[in-house]
Amino acid sequence: MSHKLLLATRNQGKIVEFRRILDAIAPGEIDLVGLDQFPDLHDVDETGSTFQENALLKAREMSEATGLPAIADDSGLCVDALNGDPGIFSARWAGEHGNDSANLEKVLDQMKDVPDEKRTGYFICVAALYLPDGWTYCEEGRFLGRILHSPVGENGFGYDPIFQPEGLTISSAQMSSEEKDAMSHRGKALRAIAPHVMKALKTLG
Ligand code: IMP
Repeated sequence: MSHKLLLATRNQGKIVEFRRILDAIAPGEIDLVGLDQFPDLHDVDETGSTFQENALLKAREMSEATGLPAIADDSGLCVDALNGDPGIFSARWAGEHGNDSANLEKVLDQMKDVPDEKRTGYFICVAALYLPDGWTYCEEGRFLGRILHSPVGENGFGYDPIFQPEGLTISSAQMSSEEKDAMSHRGKALRAIAPHVMKALKTLG
């Protein structure tokens, strides 16, 4: 029997990525659906003060709205020289939600006097699972690197053009999606939570 699980996102890329990870662990056991199947649900306000709070908030609200076990993720860029900013405000750092180029230009401007050795930072992703009986579980993944001086590369999204992963000489916007999945914060968090999701869903019968 396959278990239905909601991935609380409208991002098709995240759905495809997580389906691939779950299928590698337990082929055919999970029927993963995205929010595209629930067009009437509106987006959850991310009012938490940590990545974990926001991920749990999204998973809980969407599970309560659909009656399904739900998984959600929250992610962002934390820059050491900016005391962890943009952090949970990554998607709206320059004001308007989701303006990737304005967001990264703002970070570059804030970092213009920061020398190379102090340009360290990381992407972080917290994945949260919420079961209809209120049981929750979270996992975190980090992707370490440094902030470049100007944007490079066309792939990815968000801050990828200004992020150079540790140990590489290219930006994460120059990686293929498979290369990035293998190292990324989201790939790590999703791979870490996947076996717990399988176990939890089996307890639901
Ligand atoms: P959310 O978790 O989808 O809300 O993403 C938050 C924001 O963090 C995005 O809008 C991006 O600005 C940034 N972000 C998260 N993950 C990545 C990534 O893998 N590459 C580049 N930017 C990212």
